Amino acid sequence: MYDVIIIGCGITGAAIAYELSKYNLRILILEKENDVAMGSTRANSAIIHAGFDPEEGTLMARLNVRGSRLAEEICRELDVPYVRNGAVVLAFDESERQSLEKLLRRGINNGVANLRIIERDELRAMEPEVSGDAIAALYAPDSAICSPWEYCLALAETAVRNGAELKLSSGVKSIQKTADQWCVSTESESFTARFVVNAAGSQADVVHDLALEHEFEILPTRGQYYLLDKSEGSRVRSTVFRCPGVNGKGVLVAPTVHGNLIVGPDSELTGTVDVSTTKEGFDYIRSRAAESVPGISFSANIRNFAGSRARTAKGDFIIAENGGFIDAAGICSPGLSAAPAVGEYVAELIENAAGLPGKREHFTNKRKRIRFRELDDEAKAELIAKDPAYGRIVCRCEMITEGEIRDAFDAPIPPTTIDAVKRRVGAGMGRCQGGFCSPLVLEMLAARLGVSRYSILKDSEGSFVLKKNNVH
Ligand SMILES: Cc1cc2nc3c(=O)[nH]c(=O)nc-3n(C[C@H](O)[C@H](O)[C@H](O)COP(=O)(O)OP(=O)(O)OC[C@H]3O[C@@H](n4cnc5c(N)ncnc54)[C@H](O)[C@@H]3O)c2cc1C
Repeated sequence: MYDVIIIGCGITGAAIAYELSKYNLRILILEKENDVAMGSTRANSAIIHAGFDPEEGTLMARLNVRGSRLAEEICRELDVPYVRNGAVVLAFDESERQSLEKLLRRGINNGVANLRIIERDELRAMEPEVSGDAIAALYAPDSAICSPWEYCLALAETAVRNGAELKLSSGVKSIQKTADQWCVSTESESFTARFVVNAAGSQADVVHDLALEHEFEILPTRGQYYLLDKSEGSRVRSTVFRCPGVNGKGVLVAPTVHGNLIVGPDSELTGTVDVSTTKEGFDYIRSRAAESVPGISFSANIRNFAGSRARTAKGDFIIAENGGFIDAAGICSPGLSAAPAVGEYVAELIENAAGLPGKREHFTNKRKRIRFRELDDEAKAELIAKDPAYGRIVCRCEMITEGEIRDAFDAPIPPTTIDAVKRRVGAGMGRCQGGFCSPLVLEMLAARLGVSRYSILKDSEGSFVLKKNNVH
């Protein structure tokens, strides 16, 4: 029997597993997809929000501010790309200036430090590419950007290093309560635990209903993006927001930790999870972004994608314990920012319900990986002399070596698909989007997994890359 079963391994499930793995608990994470970070966690703006946006007094506000304070140190310890680049929220007229004042007051009440309103000249000095029509901005120096999927992977890997078990391709189909434990079943296995945590993102309502009376519904809300080439990556230094409206934080323009420029999202209630992209969405995003940063060159676009927010009508996170079943639901934005604080909060709920055992004596929270292209020439030469695999470039755009991909295979949660390799080491993230390296990665995967190259997937179940007489 496990102490805790966590359903879902996006950033929320991973952060909960990370926090709980500090204690002497038997933990099992069940994830329905073939990798971690396959839901909202892989398709978002990647901002660690300072916390001025959520309404005062909400769980969202409290956990956002706490989570973003914890994120920097966790990212440093776990070697996750993180840059505190700051954010500006633009005002284009006097009524938007009033909105900035409101956001400033809200941020201060939420406990956000260092917020202030800056006038046009200071804004232009800070961000010369921002439209001259912007009259002022709210400046949040503590806002940051990170790599969301590496953040999730690093938290999950650390939980696994500290004894948690992770089962991928294990979608939960039923949950039953007996006298003092829960029985959680996938299609092929059943497990028992004292506590079950529902971190199933856009499926959190479905998973909740497997265990308890119906309480809430997830309202999937799509957000689409442009990802522009590194030639556009330094167009702005901070994250440039518009004033938030009824549809959320609006279209932003921001650098990414990988050196690209991200532009989006729009916001559209889709009824079911829908991460397809639309011309209308992109027309809207381009026109809104051009009002903030007129010089963006959209011809440098290298990829479009969409994510789905797991909103609920409550407008706040739903995190509560009921008879050993804990929902971590409605985790829409700022869920990435709040994640480590959500982990702490779930630990608190378990402590209040049954008491937590002592802390693990040897909790390991160090993680380091070789990033070849970031080394200086001397370090590169030394590394290649020691291990020639670092001298063989697989992804030319991002300068990713065979040695780094091999290291990913040896990590606690090894990749089994081409996109899983991409999320771990960056191969395929560049201008050619895997055109050159995908066949090489496919060969490496087939050799490592000991399977035919015809069974290698690009991404989710069924996304075969090669076909041979229609037999996989
Ligand atoms: C367009 C957009 C922009 C955003 N921008 C930001 C931002 O800049 N900053 C920020 O802080 N937040 C942002 N967010 C929010 C953030 O991405 C989410 O809050 C966060 O990723 C939610 O993580 P999660 O783990 O709760 O959900 P998910 O990442 O969706 O993970 C849920 C997991 O549960 C699994 N699952 C579902 N059902 C089952 C089952 N039956 N059995 C087993 N596993 C199951 C899924 O496969 C999935 O892996 C944004 C979101 C979107 C969509």
